[in-house]
Amino acid sequence: MVLATDDLEITCPSCKGTGEGDAAPCEKCSGKGVILTGQGNTLLHFIKKHLNE
Ligand SMILES: [Zn+2]
Repeated sequence: MVLATDDLEITCPSCKGTGEGDAAPCEKCSGKGVILTGQGNTLLHFIKKHLNE
């Protein structure tokens, strides 16, 4: 496999993957617990762009 999940997203360094912020969902990852890498962002933008066609 060329792309592994770890290549696309990494555990959020701000909340350590819990998705919890101080009082609300973690702002850095929107409560997902993971954040996209550059490669993940590229892929996401590509998919979104073509989904609209
Ligand atoms: Zn987070």
